[in-house]
Amino acid sequence: MLSSFFNSVLELVVKTSTDLPPDVRAAMRGAMGAEQPGTQAAQALTIIAQNINQAAEGEGAICQDTGMPTFEVHVPRGSDQIWMRQQIREAVAKATKMGKLRPNSVDSITGENSGDNLGPGTPIIHFDQWENDDIEVKLILKGGGCENMNIQYSVPAELAHLGRADRNLEGVRKCILHAVWQAQGKGCAPGAVGVCIGGDRTSGYLEAKQQLFRTLDDVNPDPRLADLEASIMGTVNSLGIGTMGFGGRVSLIGCKVGVLNRLPASFFVSVAYDCWAFRRLGVRLDARDGSIREWLYRDPSHPVIPMIDQEGYRRSGREIALKPPLDEQTVRSLKVGDVVLVSGRMFTGRDQVHAYLMKHDPPVDLRGSVLYHCGPVVKKDGEGWQVTAAGPTTSIREEPYQADVIKKFGVRAVVGKGGMGAKTLAALKDAGAVYLNAVGGAAQFYAKCIERTDGVSLTEFGTPEAMWHLWVRDFPAIVTMDSHGNSLHKDVEQASGEKLAELSAVPAGPAT
Ligand code: SF4
Repeated sequence: MLSSFFNSVLELVVKTSTDLPPDVRAAMRGAMGAEQPGTQAAQALTIIAQNINQAAEGEGAICQDTGMPTFEVHVPRGSDQIWMRQQIREAVAKATKMGKLRPNSVDSITGENSGDNLGPGTPIIHFDQWENDDIEVKLILKGGGCENMNIQYSVPAELAHLGRADRNLEGVRKCILHAVWQAQGKGCAPGAVGVCIGGDRTSGYLEAKQQLFRTLDDVNPDPRLADLEASIMGTVNSLGIGTMGFGGRVSLIGCKVGVLNRLPASFFVSVAYDCWAFRRLGVRLDARDGSIREWLYRDPSHPVIPMIDQEGYRRSGREIALKPPLDEQTVRSLKVGDVVLVSGRMFTGRDQVHAYLMKHDPPVDLRGSVLYHCGPVVKKDGEGWQVTAAGPTTSIREEPYQADVIKKFGVRAVVGKGGMGAKTLAALKDAGAVYLNAVGGAAQFYAKCIERTDGVSLTEFGTPEAMWHLWVRDFPAIVTMDSHGNSLHKDVEQASGEKLAELSAVPAGPAT
């Protein structure tokens, strides 16, 4: 019975994690074409494009955060859903063991990582029966950085820069614009939004995520919603948030809106923000043996067109080489906008490491160090380790801790994505340190910058949260917060807020 079901689901998981669907590739190619060459956004897109190629070629995770696996399964009448659920869970565990998914299932109370992506609530599997004879399995892998940017509005509401959002489509338009603005680069822009108008708080978010199963180039069958989607896409990019929030011409690659009935007293607008690493695929399976009959969102008979014909970081000659341990003078000479190439030792540290450092001394000497906000995918390699995916994670989560960690332990550079807040900016100035923004999601690209891993501390926190000792070569990043009180993130947020205010006056309507 369904002898191929397990292998089909496993193949779906591996492909989804490693091969970006053609509609997303096309949208990202459009973004590359729109940006001015030589800008920070264009440089970041070049790295993203290489990363997409490298992931598909080497069957490695596109982003190290392989997200919350969410399966939508349609089955014919009489199917054994209990057995299928078990098979899907086993396929997820196998893909994790193969290094195609990062262990991402964490006990919410103890912080313990289950190690296999299985646990209460993970993976998410929804079953529905349908009238067809075959089985459909769709999968989306949506990471934590963009998931944290999801937002739900209860309208009427007062929105920063936009004024009041009322209970009508104009109010919904304001909510969507606000959602994109508040995400800035923290969700690895350019992103795509799934939106639900109405429902309750739970069904609204579910429907918003469902909208992300639509292709980026489809047209909403409801003309009112089609107009709203076109209006958003026609205006949102003037916000100037750009790739990674560096500023630029493309902030959003898709807007998909659905609608559910609501209670008379409630009017929710739920927005699911997905990043550029928009990983979703699907398969139609033969209900007799579970073999793949057809792929959804991709056509395996069509060759994958490479995103870019380039390997490695193309130097402009203006890059600054950084070799940790760093001294104060070197760091203070750096300014926002400088591109650096780090070669030497870096330590990873994210949520659990930062919380640990509030109460304990570090397991290594952090004076002059480069601390990388990263939860890599790591494979045991004989006696050692091999990092197979290692892009930056969202730094703002460490805002409550970062200033203390910098000052107490002498960290000179923090590498992450999305930028940090006022407290960290002040600490950079006081202590003489910088924030370096790497390109979020570029997990394969950055893994290739890692020459070796020669140690690991705090393994009790699990693979993503441990402190990995990495040796890197020519690891590119942009100074986005310097030791003189400057922050590109603050500037872009302010400038895009002013643009947002201009858009509040533009009535909803189709794109021109
Ligand atoms: S691309 Fe960015 S937001 Fe998306 S999963 Fe990766 S780190 Fe998270």
